[in-house]
Amino acid sequence: MQDRRNTIQLEAILNAFKNAGRPLSIDELHASASKVVETLGLRTVYRVIRKLEEDGEIASVVVPGQPDRYELASVAATHHHHFHCTSCDRVYDVPGCPGRLSGLVPEGFVLNHHEIMLSGLCKTCA
Ligand SMILES: [Zn+2]
Ligand SMILES: [Zn+2]
Repeated sequence: MQDRRNTIQLEAILNAFKNAGRPLSIDELHASASKVVETLGLRTVYRVIRKLEEDGEIASVVVPGQPDRYELASVAATHHHHFHCTSCDRVYDVPGCPGRLSGLVPEGFVLNHHEIMLSGLCKTCA
């Protein structure tokens, strides 16, 4: 029965990502998935998320000074950026990229990667 329970917990967490359509924190995942699996504990969410990250199924989204958010690897595979609402603390996907960032780095430096976290107020909070 252990395997079956694990599968239900895993599915509830993966569905939480699909339903939200934006990166989620552990607390947000727990709040969403525990609507489906009432007995779901926060520690289980941590354990499942750690496993999914090890397996490359999800990627972390770093918000400076805040707990990490997570997104599905299939979403992370498409280059995009993020917006953090400083009022509701939700993180949203921002499609596209300003590009041409190599002009920002000092001469002689080689730019290989960038992350952009915009912040402000989301539509609901503005
Ligand atoms: Zn907001
Ligand atoms: Zn970019």
